Amino acid sequence: MRLTNEVILALQKGLGYELYKALFLNYGKRGEKAYFYVSQRRVKKYKDFFVVVGRNEYIVEEFFCSCPDFQLKLKGREPCAHIIAVEIAKMLKLYDEIDAYYHDYQKFGQR
Ligand SMILES: [Zn+2]
Repeated sequence: MRLTNEVILALQKGLGYELYKALFLNYGKRGEKAYFYVSQRRVKKYKDFFVVVGRNEYIVEEFFCSCPDFQLKLKGREPCAHIIAVEIAKMLKLYDEIDAYYHDYQKFGQR
């Protein structure tokens, strides 16, 4: 998924007001949320997926997110806050790397 040019330009200045403003102007509330996910280090990179920790944990893969906002409200047509957060985190390298497969955690959680 590709972020808007305005956001990409702001990213060159790192995590700061410019980026916050660009995100809000381009993506509204979703952009604002994405900014906080990244600044609060809520983006985790597992061996298989990126996961964003909000009220729940959501799996993000390219242009897909497991959250209801993306699947029901946005119908997969526009990026949700989690997808935007992962893109920013990737470009700024601001994510925690976890040496495990998220898939294994999920199987464990179902028991
Ligand atoms: Zn999402």
